[in-house]
Amino acid sequence: MKNVVYKRSRYSKQQRTDLPLIKSLIVVLLLTAGLIQSCNHEKGYLPKAKQLVPQKAFGFKVGEVKLLDSPFKESQDAEAKYLLSLNLDRLLAPFQNESGIKTEASPYPGWETNFLPGVALSFYLSGTSRLYALTGEGIYLKNIRYILDHLRKCQLNNGGYLLGSRDGKEVFSKLEEEGYYPEFDNWIKGHGEPYYVMEKLFSGLIDVYKICNIPLALTIAVDLADWLQKHMSHISDEDLQKIMFTEYGGLNWVLADLYAITGNAEYLAMSKRWHDNGVLVPLTKGIDILTGIHANSQFPKVSGLAYRYRYTADSSEWKGAVFFWESVVNHRSYVTGGNSSNELFSPKDSLSHTLNPNTEENCNEYNMLKLTSLLFQMEPRVEFADYMERTLYNHILSAQNIKDGRVCYYLPLMPAVQKIYQSLYDIFSCCVCSAMDSYTRHSEYIYAHSDSVLYLNLFIASSLTWREKGISVRQETRFPFEDNSVLTFKCKRKTRLCLKVRHPYWLSEPMRLWINGEEHPLIPTDGYYSIHRTWATGDRVEIHLPMNTRIERMPDDENKIALFYGPVLLAGTFDEETAVALSEAHDAPAVIPGEVPVCQWLEAADEPMYFRLNVPSSVDINLKP
Ligand SMILES: [Zn+2]
Repeated sequence: MKNVVYKRSRYSKQQRTDLPLIKSLIVVLLLTAGLIQSCNHEKGYLPKAKQLVPQKAFGFKVGEVKLLDSPFKESQDAEAKYLLSLNLDRLLAPFQNESGIKTEASPYPGWETNFLPGVALSFYLSGTSRLYALTGEGIYLKNIRYILDHLRKCQLNNGGYLLGSRDGKEVFSKLEEEGYYPEFDNWIKGHGEPYYVMEKLFSGLIDVYKICNIPLALTIAVDLADWLQKHMSHISDEDLQKIMFTEYGGLNWVLADLYAITGNAEYLAMSKRWHDNGVLVPLTKGIDILTGIHANSQFPKVSGLAYRYRYTADSSEWKGAVFFWESVVNHRSYVTGGNSSNELFSPKDSLSHTLNPNTEENCNEYNMLKLTSLLFQMEPRVEFADYMERTLYNHILSAQNIKDGRVCYYLPLMPAVQKIYQSLYDIFSCCVCSAMDSYTRHSEYIYAHSDSVLYLNLFIASSLTWREKGISVRQETRFPFEDNSVLTFKCKRKTRLCLKVRHPYWLSEPMRLWINGEEHPLIPTDGYYSIHRTWATGDRVEIHLPMNTRIERMPDDENKIALFYGPVLLAGTFDEETAVALSEAHDAPAVIPGEVPVCQWLEAADEPMYFRLNVPSSVDINLKP
């Protein structure tokens, strides 16, 4: 049973890298001696395997939802600018080096050289595919084709094998000959985590195939899977379980996905062999073994469980995935929606002593959002959508510097500790690389659908083109800077449809909704307001979302409180001198609200969502999102 710390922490590894200068202040306050923390691009893609469990909801195809102006659009644009600035030959160099093809380019430094060579290119493929579908700009497609052509040359030079891992071939040969050997787990020697990087490559190739409809991407993925099948045939189940002690990403997921795409049952059988008994068996039995284990290693394998269930109908897989999600979100997550302290899961409902500079690895929330989407598609529960909103606003956006696209490795929640954004070109940590995909995905969480239902989950300015139904919806809003959102419909023909508008948990007064100027009575059921109607061009839905100041408390210390405005966590800011002093003291000012009701704690400042604290405190505190 892996209920102890069994993963080497990447924290120590990260410390060895040269961290960039501290640039920005994390927003924390203490209250009452406690904390406040503060083209139809899928045309042609038809899955060949039979799905045994039907989905209740579907995500829209990438590109059918586009962001309009908002912080999310700025965030996506910042990531796009970064991706376009990367040198393709340098991204390809680890693959060419490993396959013996001469290249003049040197791999990027940091993890691209030392720990996880080739991972950047894998996430680059995912992010670039999305940006192509979202923008239609040919440069993205040109870059993808260039990469695929070179990857194919590397693969053909190596009999189907393809990886950027340093000495990957050597590691795999040794495993085939000797079985599991103790040094396998010692990735500091430079062998990296070969199965982890392989899974990321599969993910990138599958994204290119599904989103951009490029057959070469699938050809490469299938040839690699066939190589992997031969490789796995030399390894016993017992040794495979030991190998899974090391992070292997979501090989169970991508192999199940390849089964879905191709109908080749061998890939489903391989997916089932990548089933980490130490973690997944207890979860499928409802046993919580998460305390102290490496958080990010678990999300992709649990996503594999959630996804494979569609094709196995094994209900224990579904129950295990949901149990994991609930154990993380309801018992081990901070107010930001993020989780992990020094990369490890905290004890259940015991978070108040886990705050340090190394909370919330950014990869975790990227992976948790992917898992949450998979769960929502099978069971469209409002808590999944609530989680998406909380995490997108309070972790994902917070962990990125919108001005230049740099991201944090950790989002530190310790009082008076500053955020550290990583360099864009020197480190290439797992979090810099996962951000290449993560920050191009914002639009995918806003809406979902079934044949007769349109779910509105997030109040983010966007345009939806539902080609299958001939319906377009434009959502115009400045939320959360304003408390309303307006939907305008365009329909090729009048269409009967249930619009399900999420009932947010943070409303300060009942939500109100008008259709074409006439107020519509609202009764929430299962977290949504259902509006059954025959929709026509020009229909206008206006939604009023009253919000106010509110607090959330630490589960194990009610004096540690986070201050929110609606869904948005507010961060305390100080003048520079105070910030430096607090940082050096690892402390934050106490605030004594006395009997003042929470809704009166804030006084509006000059900008929307900016406030001054209106109750006594030891220093002046301003608050912002
Ligand atoms: Zn990471």
